[in-house]
Amino acid sequence: MGLNTKLIHGNGVSKEKKVGATNVPIYFSNAYAYNKAKDLENIFSGRDIGHVYTRISNPSIEALEKRMVAVEGGVSAIATASGMSAIYLAVMNILTPGDEIIASSGVFGGTYNFFKNLKQLNIEVKFVDELNEESLTEHITPKTKIVFAETIGNPKLDVLDIEVVSTICKIKGVVFMVDSTVTTPYLIRPLEYGADVVIHSVSKYVNGSANSIGGMIIDGGSTKFNSERYENFKHYTKRYRQFAFSAKLRNELGKDLGAVMSPMNSFLNLTGIETLSLRMKRHCHNAYQLAKYLQENPKVLHTNYPGLETSEYYPLTQKYYAKEAGGILTLRVGSKEKAFQLIDSLKLISNVTNIGDTKTLALHPASTICNGNTPEEKEQMGVYEDLIRVSVGLEDMEDIIEDLENALGGL
Ligand SMILES: *Cc1c(COP(=O)(O)O)cnc(C)c1O
Repeated sequence: MGLNTKLIHGNGVSKEKKVGATNVPIYFSNAYAYNKAKDLENIFSGRDIGHVYTRISNPSIEALEKRMVAVEGGVSAIATASGMSAIYLAVMNILTPGDEIIASSGVFGGTYNFFKNLKQLNIEVKFVDELNEESLTEHITPKTKIVFAETIGNPKLDVLDIEVVSTICKIKGVVFMVDSTVTTPYLIRPLEYGADVVIHSVSKYVNGSANSIGGMIIDGGSTKFNSERYENFKHYTKRYRQFAFSAKLRNELGKDLGAVMSPMNSFLNLTGIETLSLRMKRHCHNAYQLAKYLQENPKVLHTNYPGLETSEYYPLTQKYYAKEAGGILTLRVGSKEKAFQLIDSLKLISNVTNIGDTKTLALHPASTICNGNTPEEKEQMGVYEDLIRVSVGLEDMEDIIEDLENALGGL
């Protein structure tokens, strides 16, 4: 089955049996009744499967999880309340005090700051500018439990060499987690390149219309949790085999934290995901056109888009994405004042801290998502005082360009 078919029919979850509804019903029910006490005992003890309580599972949420597994591959998916809770749950499912994690320094600001805060739990994070054989060999120790990176960093727009990193992680026996929010399964399916776990903020492109916050964790099912490095997975690998990661997550932290996606949001995401390919194609096309335009505008000092021939990541972009390098670009205009002035002069494009919407959005990351970071940290994240991030929407290109042209003209 091709990707577009999977996005719409994946895992057969679009077929509701009772009345033949063509959309997955929204099960607004916290709990589920069973005839016999034994029935619930069987489910709680793991002998049977079934829904008992929505903090644990729900048919509407399960439908989205199954759709994501159909699209990304892997064995199991867990929908969460937000992209951040997906990242929290995925990494804390593995980490214990004293552990280390290696992360690309270009990760999303929220992720960067969360990882920094792990110090309180005596977990050390090593931020690395470029994940490659050399840097990984240098930084991986017996305490390293996770290598974490984004396919294309937001907003650094650095392109991950996913094949190289997954090869090293496999050799060293370290779990490789990939946040694919910016690329979506339309552009890349990280499990196919050897990632162990894929994470999405579905709030962005999967949802597509910015109408609900949500996250997703997809378990590739091929992780070898060697028992020396991953003491805490011994029981789960023995009992659940390829489902070890997701079984532990569902049995422990998932239940404990209760950061589940709402059934309503699952419905909205199931609607959104059907059109993912169409939208991504246009997001990418528009972003490339806009990047080309900005590159020629003398008021713009630097345009960063991984699909531009001038990008330092262009060879990696070609390897993984060809010209469709996502819907995000950044531009630098010389000073914070000019960046603010530009944002203030935009009429069609909104000043919004979000990406992946149908609408074109502009943001000054240094004063917003990276507000609490030091200048050194900002630089590591590829964020400068004069930098503006644009999440390019689906409008007609001429209108987006006209808006930016007018605003740039006033600088
Ligand atoms: C937005 C974003 C997140 C966080 O997701 P939320 O749904 O806002 O919690 C994580 N990673 C990336 C790359 C993002 O863009």
